[in-house]
Amino acid sequence: MAAQGKCRLCEQDSDLQESHIIPKFVYTYLKDTSPTKKIREANNVNLRKQDGIKLHWLCKACELKFSSWEKYFSENIFHPLQNGQNPVSYNDNFLKFCVSISWRVLKYILEKKYISDFSDEIQIKIQNALSEWKKFLLNQSANPGIHEQHFYNLSGTIENSTHPTSSNIHRYLQRSVAIDVVNWGPKVVIVYAKFPGLILTGFINVENRNDFRDTKVHVKNGVLNHRKISFPQQLWDYLNAKAEVTKKIKQEMSQKQKEKINADYRKLPIDEIITSGTFQALQKDIELYGIEEVFNTNTDDNSSEPKID
Ligand SMILES: [Zn+2]
Repeated sequence: MAAQGKCRLCEQDSDLQESHIIPKFVYTYLKDTSPTKKIREANNVNLRKQDGIKLHWLCKACELKFSSWEKYFSENIFHPLQNGQNPVSYNDNFLKFCVSISWRVLKYILEKKYISDFSDEIQIKIQNALSEWKKFLLNQSANPGIHEQHFYNLSGTIENSTHPTSSNIHRYLQRSVAIDVVNWGPKVVIVYAKFPGLILTGFINVENRNDFRDTKVHVKNGVLNHRKISFPQQLWDYLNAKAEVTKKIKQEMSQKQKEKINADYRKLPIDEIITSGTFQALQKDIELYGIEEVFNTNTDDNSSEPKID
């Protein structure tokens, strides 16, 4: 359904198309690789949600551009990485896709006033990032300047970490979608977008780029090789904190909802469950931590049923 208004990108008055913040194919992938074929929203786990946040933001021409970059990413990067291909090479469509994601995530979070408590100094940098990204998306500039995009492939197994790691880490990394603007003090402010197994960060302000080596998305072309990247400590700590929050949210799921999920699982053939992405992520957490830690709920809930929806 179209709505009349000003396109957020090119600013022309137009019929506005419905578009997603995180592309629909990402949710389709999660559903297809879940044994129950259902997904749920972290801030309301009792609700099964079909395909994420949708907005009437773009005119037809801008929406078509976004869709073409999404198609490129889905076919040439997202699915090959999910299938374990390494390395994966990319062309100039990849940076456009990354910038389009950072731009919409930042604009959405800003419009929702989730970051209105950030300092004036950072607000200026946010406006600058939005403006540089917009110019790049409209082909008015050749690159996004200091507002770089960095991409991480974490779709494999986390082997062993010398740093504290959540017992929910594989399920958080591989089975969830998330957006955020992260502020690690005034020197590091980034836009964060998490796809299953993959993380995109868009720089609002990063003063020490040394922590972000090897992961910059290049303008024309490049190669993604996840065996040769450095990972910022702050980002790792952030991921683990989020994995712990997600674990707690799941533990707080209502008894009725847990019963519904269990009923769904009982209907399924076992080989359909064990080959699913949900189960494989769970298995990796068990391999890293042991079954007691993974299923230790410390609530009144006596259920020993795996919560793997
Ligand atoms: Zn437009």
